[in-house]
Amino acid sequence: MVCIFATYTGYQYINRSKTNKKGLIILTYHSISNEIEPDETVTPEEFERQLHYIKKNYKVISLEEAVGYLKTDFEKISGSIVITFDDGYSDNYHNAYPLLKKYNFPATIFLVSDFIENNGNKYLSLSQVNEMKNNNISFGSHTISHRILARLTNEEVVKEIKDSKDVLESKLSKKISSFAYPIGTRADFNDETMEIVKTCKYACACSNMYGMNGKNADIFALKRIGIETTDNFFIFKKKLNGALNILSFKDTKFFQKLKRIFF
Ligand SMILES: [Zn+2]
Repeated sequence: MVCIFATYTGYQYINRSKTNKKGLIILTYHSISNEIEPDETVTPEEFERQLHYIKKNYKVISLEEAVGYLKTDFEKISGSIVITFDDGYSDNYHNAYPLLKKYNFPATIFLVSDFIENNGNKYLSLSQVNEMKNNNISFGSHTISHRILARLTNEEVVKEIKDSKDVLESKLSKKISSFAYPIGTRADFNDETMEIVKTCKYACACSNMYGMNGKNADIFALKRIGIETTDNFFIFKKKLNGALNILSFKDTKFFQKLKRIFF
């Protein structure tokens, strides 16, 4: 009986907010490919299905536009979607970019500066980046080496955050104003990390803490909603309408503590 009640309540919870479009949604993608790596690859077919759904139901804006309005005119961007990719996989160029162009969506790709042209064909080349930067795709920094910043010395953190910006700005001949913390849960960066990002003159930083961003969002710890391999279309839609915002419990100090004790 209890079990039936719990299932019913859960079902009600998941279904109640079909039209909930409050908050800025920033999506995190990684690889868009048919070669599935655990957790973080979305097939091009599924990706297009998702973009098609977004086109019909939401407005897509650039990260720069979102950050600009977050503090000044939140209502204008509430319910909008920002599309981001972490790590700079070359399949972003081959598989995601043509679809983003087809739907006329802007997006931001966070690059690891050491990965550009350094890992065979796995990561984006400079010429691919340069082509995309002139066609609605902006680029941010995802450090030099993708090491977890909370585990490094202050000196190393400064190098990862500042030098990656300098290298990317010189390679792209363009200002780099956004940053994304590697891995990006609250355990992977700390208050000092955030201060360094600010000092290095970034305009914003994305975490991978789960959730939407409200009026009082910290623009140096923006929340994102990660789209994962195992998300079917039903789950994708629920993630967008906020029905799964409960997943943000993973980012509470309590849960992180539990994780440390048990894993
Ligand atoms: Zn990453």
